[in-house]
Amino acid sequence: MIFRQLFDYDTWTYTYLVADEQTHEAVLIDPVLDQAERDLRLISELNLRLTYAIDTHVHADHITANGYLRERTGCRTGVASGNGVECADLGLEDGQVLPLGDSRIEVIATPGHTDGCLSFRIGDRVFTGDSLFIRGCGRTDFQSGDAGRLYDSITKRLFALPDETLVYPGHDYHGHTISTIGEEKRFNPRLTMDRETFIRYMAELKLPDPRLIMEAVPANRSCGQA
Ligand code: FE
Repeated sequence: MIFRQLFDYDTWTYTYLVADEQTHEAVLIDPVLDQAERDLRLISELNLRLTYAIDTHVHADHITANGYLRERTGCRTGVASGNGVECADLGLEDGQVLPLGDSRIEVIATPGHTDGCLSFRIGDRVFTGDSLFIRGCGRTDFQSGDAGRLYDSITKRLFALPDETLVYPGHDYHGHTISTIGEEKRFNPRLTMDRETFIRYMAELKLPDPRLIMEAVPANRSCGQA
């Protein structure tokens, strides 16, 4: 497995490149439009062929590179079905499996940050988008977010994975890069709360809206292309 963790400093977004060593088929998870040339250069340097560009959800804080990458490489784009993203090639659903050479990308529905949030499991790694962060979690106050659903998604779906599973989040604001399911079960201050306390805590966060929300959400419904 070829693996790269990439970062967009402007929006604190992680993008992940995962590829099969034998077939050189590659997937980009949560690519950022402003970083598309960086990602395409890396794909070419590593002699990979981009087969999928997939988003964990319709992002509110950056514009997806999915549509642009499809135009440049012919890859297929994917996001959760029922999200109003008509331009996506793949409407992804819980339990779906996308082949990637000898590996598989397993789709796990983890709604709560938005109602269409997905996590992707590849081998011993899980890409959690904005559901589970390292020692935190995504906010639940817009895009049909729901703290109770997020709590259930994390505790029932993600925490059901083996403890040694590596956790790669969609963002980090504190300098963390990687965690494990076991570590988050023990040390995540929000998920060690009971469900009612978590819901109350999330309701009291009162965060400002993301800077780009008014442009990012509509742009991402058209795969990042105006
Ligand atoms: Fe998000």
